[in-house]
Amino acid sequence: MIPYGKQDISQADIDAVVDVLKSDYLTQGPQVPLFEETVARYCGAEYGVAVNSATSALHIACLALGLGEGDWLWTSPNTFVASANCALYCGAQVDFVDINPHTYNMSVVALEHKLQQAKLNNTLPKIVIPVHFSGQSCEMLGIYALSLEYGFKIIEDAAHAIGGKYLGKPIGGGQYSDITVFSFHPVKIVTTGEGGVATTNQTVLAEKMQLLRSHGVTREPHLMTKTSESEGAWYYQQVVLGFNYRMTEMQAALGVSQMNRVDEFVSIRKAFAKRYDELLRNLPLILPFQHADSDSSFHLYPILIQTDLIFKNRVQVYKALREHGIGVNIHYIPVHTQPYYQKMGFVEGDFPIAEAYYQQAISIPVFHAMTFQDQDRVVELLERDLI
Ligand SMILES: *Cc1c(COP(=O)(O)O)cnc(C)c1O
Repeated sequence: MIPYGKQDISQADIDAVVDVLKSDYLTQGPQVPLFEETVARYCGAEYGVAVNSATSALHIACLALGLGEGDWLWTSPNTFVASANCALYCGAQVDFVDINPHTYNMSVVALEHKLQQAKLNNTLPKIVIPVHFSGQSCEMLGIYALSLEYGFKIIEDAAHAIGGKYLGKPIGGGQYSDITVFSFHPVKIVTTGEGGVATTNQTVLAEKMQLLRSHGVTREPHLMTKTSESEGAWYYQQVVLGFNYRMTEMQAALGVSQMNRVDEFVSIRKAFAKRYDELLRNLPLILPFQHADSDSSFHLYPILIQTDLIFKNRVQVYKALREHGIGVNIHYIPVHTQPYYQKMGFVEGDFPIAEAYYQQAISIPVFHAMTFQDQDRVVELLERDLI
């Protein structure tokens, strides 16, 4: 089976993890701060806060920005459920903004329209989470301008997008948002097994997220109600209700080692994407459109089957590819159509562009360890199945 995505682990990655296992620290040692610094420096951000998943990072990012009961959070329906669930963890309410039919990212036009309505109804969002779907940046200039006009905070869900750029700058630098969240799950571009990092340029947000990921406990004198001088060197305080969302030293060491190859990973993904663009040009498919402002990291290569031009539906194409050993996948089932969200009142038809996209989309394999022969086989089978 050729999967749609897969990690690439080198001997250097293995050595880095083994070194940690032989060292004094399996957690709370030097590797986590090193990984945070590596990711932050790579993105051009002041701070990186490492946690055990992007889902945890989204949760503490929302809390750090003060999301709570009575607040609204808006995100894209074309994403993994974690982008929306983070609001519910905080007791807030979720709503969605339909996607742009070309980029499959949150539509800035739809966002503006929904904000105008929400202003009239007094239901403006506290946080908007644009998701850089497949590694292509959202139109952050437009979203940022709206955030100034309507007063919401922005968390970029960049789970797909490490190594991607927007207007020539790395995603995660925080020019147009408060916090950016990356995932290091094995199917993503760079892996730590499980893991996430939140980047920010705001000291207060970095401090809050550091507290929240580790029980709300601190030894920082300026965060404490009294100092250790009056108590003793052991003294610490819990100042907020936090969690244990810490990343281990093994994970961080793997991340530091993997980050040495992030540019290579992305440039190879781009080369595969370019090659697909050429080889699939004449098939009844819509290939991923690239916005001029964005330089995608190609976590995914989603194709849309033009079902009006062929005598097969998407399910038949999906099955045929799977039967021939191509591990295609579908990204994403629109979040508002999940039973859990339907129970909250969302219905099919609420976000028609995301739903129409979902009916036609298939993600075909793109990953660093893939070969041109693998890719030729995918193309050959698509030709056979589509014509
Ligand atoms: C993978 C993913 C997440 C969650 O990442 P984890 O590290 O698995 O928690 C969140 N958002 C998007 C868009 C994702 O693809």
